[in-house]
Amino acid sequence: ITPVAPTIFETRESAVRSYCRSWPTVFDRAQGSRMFDEEGRAYLDFFAGAGALNYGHNNPLLKRALLEYLERDGVTHSLDMGSVAKRTFLEKFEELVLQPRGLDYRVQFPGPTGTNTVEAALKLARKVKGRESVISFTNAFHGMSLGALAVTGNSMKRAGAGIPLVHGTPMPFDNYLDGLTPDFLWFERLLEDSGSGLNQPAAVIVETVQGEGGVNVARPSWLRGLAELCARRDMLLIVDDVQMGCGRTGPFFSFEEAGIVPDIVCLSKSIGGYGMPMALTLFRPELDVWEPGEHNGTFRGHNPAFVTSAAALDAYWSDDHLEKQTLVKGEQVAAALVELCAEHRGLGASFRGRGLIWGLTFADTRRAVAVCRRAFELGLLVETSGPKSEVVKVMPPLTVSPDELDEGLAVLGRAVRDTA
Ligand code: PMP
Repeated sequence: ITPVAPTIFETRESAVRSYCRSWPTVFDRAQGSRMFDEEGRAYLDFFAGAGALNYGHNNPLLKRALLEYLERDGVTHSLDMGSVAKRTFLEKFEELVLQPRGLDYRVQFPGPTGTNTVEAALKLARKVKGRESVISFTNAFHGMSLGALAVTGNSMKRAGAGIPLVHGTPMPFDNYLDGLTPDFLWFERLLEDSGSGLNQPAAVIVETVQGEGGVNVARPSWLRGLAELCARRDMLLIVDDVQMGCGRTGPFFSFEEAGIVPDIVCLSKSIGGYGMPMALTLFRPELDVWEPGEHNGTFRGHNPAFVTSAAALDAYWSDDHLEKQTLVKGEQVAAALVELCAEHRGLGASFRGRGLIWGLTFADTRRAVAVCRRAFELGLLVETSGPKSEVVKVMPPLTVSPDELDEGLAVLGRAVRDTA
């Protein structure tokens, strides 16, 4: 990539920018699974807004709903006032998401981001139980505010811009110990030991697949064990489905496969559809101990996001076609990665994943960054994840076509070959 004169991004935007460094171009248009830069160069997007674009860019069905709403001067901003858009969203969510799954959750609009819903979940759990600590896992990622960082297992992010957060010991996520310790036995022992062990926590927060932490997949049996432990030890179970929810692993909620029912669920990213900022905190009705106004904010419910969200629920969740297609396309990715890893056995390549979230690693942990960089040059957007950026994360929109998947996976294969 040839160096260019500093742009307004470099001269005016703070140095905290990050993705622009992985993909040094200026994007202008996007449609479906493709983004186009201002020079008109096309890129296949297997990053999908870090999980915010499950239904693809400028999805025509959602666009139509949004344009119609704006065309008729639908209310855009109304804080938490009642609005037709909000009512329609709640009705659709009830009809298409909660009822078919036999789930009974109160719905809170905690603010526009994933961090906002995690923050609300942590506050609520502490208030319900009247206890302070929340247990989290190695390599967890839950957001960037101080509360969410306190349960995030990444020392670089937890450093809190130079002032490190004090925090209890994280629990090992599934497979962290390569099966060395019987699951939860020692965890339970620590809970019984209030002297040198753990004070009784209010809750446990977990991702079913750690997206930022390196595409670490928890087994359904492990999640069931965790849910049973929480019930036995009077701790609330919070599932952070911000990145893995809305169909990323196949079903609408990523915990459905394990057959567990969390006490609290965090949703954001793709819940708005169309890349609209939106978040939900779901909790069992008896946990609704909030006082009016106890957790508020200006952007608690953004009507255009309700409109695109309701349209997405209608288009993709009135039957199980998206779930089925995601699982089939997931097998397509897995088959391609089996081949890629066999071809590159010498590089110690291996992969893991579920649905349409896959991670590819190499013996040399630095290779993933080089592969992503080469993929960009070849017209494919894939990001790394994991504590050492050692995992290539493959996360296309769920609406990606099988041909586009083949095309992107072929480019990924070429990027690995070129950097071998
Ligand atoms: N939880 C999880 C599991 C996430 O992946 C993320 C974002 N990557 C967040 C919370 C925070 O979401 P946001 O960036 O919208 O604040």
